[in-house]
Amino acid sequence: MEPADRIYAYSSTLMGTEISLRLFSPDRQLAAQVFNTIGELENLLTVNRPRSQVMDVNRAAGNHPVAVTSTVFELIRRARDASLVEGSCFNLAIGPIVKLWKIGFTGDSVPDRDRIERLLGLTDPRDVILDEKEGSVFLARAGMEIDIGAIAKGYIADIVKELLRRNGVRNAIVNLGGNLHAIGTPLPEEQGRWRVGLQKPFGEKEEMIGIIRVSDKSVVTSGTYERFIVVDDRIYHHIIDPRTGYPLDNELHSITIVSDKSIDGDVYSTIIYGMGVASGLRYLRENCPSLGAVFVTRDKRIILSSERSFAFELLDTTYSLSRPGTSRSGSGMA
Ligand code: FAD
Ligand code: MG
Repeated sequence: MEPADRIYAYSSTLMGTEISLRLFSPDRQLAAQVFNTIGELENLLTVNRPRSQVMDVNRAAGNHPVAVTSTVFELIRRARDASLVEGSCFNLAIGPIVKLWKIGFTGDSVPDRDRIERLLGLTDPRDVILDEKEGSVFLARAGMEIDIGAIAKGYIADIVKELLRRNGVRNAIVNLGGNLHAIGTPLPEEQGRWRVGLQKPFGEKEEMIGIIRVSDKSVVTSGTYERFIVVDDRIYHHIIDPRTGYPLDNELHSITIVSDKSIDGDVYSTIIYGMGVASGLRYLRENCPSLGAVFVTRDKRIILSSERSFAFELLDTTYSLSRPGTSRSGSGMA
């Protein structure tokens, strides 16, 4: 095997998930630096521990603004902007409802409708008040909580990419538990593109229904099957519809966004998921044509947006595939 054929894989458990880094030359020290950086960012951003900068903001809700570092401020600003996009189901102020459901954590259950409805009053993103000059964040009402779980992994993936670039790494894969940055191209050239598996909804982790081929792109998926509970034969997953306080309920099982920046993938995987296929495709076409999207529906259709930024190969022919500008076909390689 030529040295360039070798992949050196490093992994660590952070942010409640497995983080992996694949390099083409061994560099244990750099891998340690990457995991340390992610750990430091987790310490600032987590809402799953009593203390972090984000939790300091939450604990001061209705009381006083909290000054945060510029990294945290920028992320909160971006999450607030995403929450104010017209028709967006992204809502950074969704924290009280996420904490009530606890999907993916010990004690998850279907809460009383009354409690959900009462907490909905504490989820207006306009009540997250940012002071640029002071670098501070104020939650206007007591009981409010911000949750940046839908955006933070993308932000962190971009920071890791930059850290690798500064250390001379041009080709690598960083995977933050499903938020993947495919940096550069594989070595030696494998059609110039990385192969990223599209997971089968509710299948085994390694069961893939297709392959997304990309070079130098982020690939981020939001899916109903990532964290869920089943109660009375109904599936309740972790992405909440801010209008109802219940898990989003539409024709989709998952949506994957291909983008240059992973933060865009993380933001839009949530926003477009909430819009569903038809509105989502229209929104992407009109507002962010550089983003690629792969929708997987509950009735086993895979629908692609423009394939400008990726190519798609269907593996599971029990799914039907629609490409832009074509009617359905049962198979296909880009
Ligand atoms: P996405 O689809 O990107 O986002 C879904 C997540 O966003 C939900 O889990 C919820 O947190 C939030 N959310 C739900 N509805 C909305 C909405 N309408 N608008 C905006 N956001 C919404 N997991 C653990 O099990 N243990 C941990 O200790 C832990 N620590 C973490 C620390 C950090 C810094 C981060 C970023 C994540 C951590 N996680 C942890 C995972 C976290 O709880 C979420 O499950 C994860 O971020 C979801 O990411 P996703 O890409 O799978 O889903
Ligand atoms: Mg997201």
